[in-house]
Amino acid sequence: MTFSLTGKRVYVAGHRGMVGSAIVRRLQSEGSEILTADRSVDLREQQDVRGWFEQNRPDVTVLAAAKVGGILANDRYPAEFLYDNLMIEANVIEASRQAQVEKLLFLGSSCIYPKFADQPIAEDSLLTGPLEPTNEWYAIAKIAGIKLCQAYRHQYGCDYISAMPTNLYGPGDNFDLQSSHVMPALIRKAHEAKLASSESITVWGTGSPKREFLHVDDLADACIHLLKTYSGHQHVNVGYGSDVSILELVELVNEVVGFEGQVEKDFSKPDGTPRKLMDSSRLAAMGWTPRIDLRQGITQTYAHFLDAAGQAGSTSSV
Ligand code: GDP
Repeated sequence: MTFSLTGKRVYVAGHRGMVGSAIVRRLQSEGSEILTADRSVDLREQQDVRGWFEQNRPDVTVLAAAKVGGILANDRYPAEFLYDNLMIEANVIEASRQAQVEKLLFLGSSCIYPKFADQPIAEDSLLTGPLEPTNEWYAIAKIAGIKLCQAYRHQYGCDYISAMPTNLYGPGDNFDLQSSHVMPALIRKAHEAKLASSESITVWGTGSPKREFLHVDDLADACIHLLKTYSGHQHVNVGYGSDVSILELVELVNEVVGFEGQVEKDFSKPDGTPRKLMDSSRLAAMGWTPRIDLRQGITQTYAHFLDAAGQAGSTSSV
């Protein structure tokens, strides 16, 4: 049984973010009516969210809105990562039920899994061990989102599903060096070092942790695939299928950007989880695999970074 998006009113919560904007782009070929909320709607405020749903009555909700950030931002702003995300999820999921939304897709993150989960990490590793402390606040909020979808499915019969993407990158990412994830940080550092003819760039931690990176356009495609074909209690991993060490990633980014200097390590910064490669075999069995290879994805993301920097007149406003 497939769920058709054609002619449906699809609300993308978080359409200004990297993930939400990729989902909006991908939905354009589905014949759906895409709905977004403007900045006057604060998703942390129940009244705002209820009011918006009552007025707009979507058929489908894609919940891609979240307070997100890299390893340092998570560690520095734990209250915001927990509170904002809990409120957004609870408000959007409950308002979707009240407005009789037919289908909802909630987006989580691979950081929901235990720090020392067996690799590759299968969906059923959830809640089998302690979390990675640098992002446990965000992880707890995302686990609550999965549980909300499951509870609404169980108690109210709502067709609410969850997808857990691995580390994402692509156009529209946050390139602020303090709050970003590693990929945009490395692209920016290599670019600025090349322009300044610097001898080296500095990466955080030991460089030995391994991460799996998926281009956000692949994620958006997987989301549409899940909306159309999946209806079930269990969340679904969305990964790339292989991982690289941070130092391997640095080499790849430097090659793409054209920076040939040295790599220094800042051991005062955290490494985080040693490894989080996901087992995405359930999604593969549903007929979906990624298409954008890592080098090609970094090259495309760097081109977008240069475009945005050119338009803004400086890399600081990318
Ligand atoms: P994580 O996947 O939740 O740990 O989030 P990040 O993408 O922020 O970090 C991934 C890994 O990259 C961690 O081991 C970081 O220490 C490492 N890393 C190296 N250099 C940087 C950097 O400049 N920024 C960020 N955010 N991480 C970096």
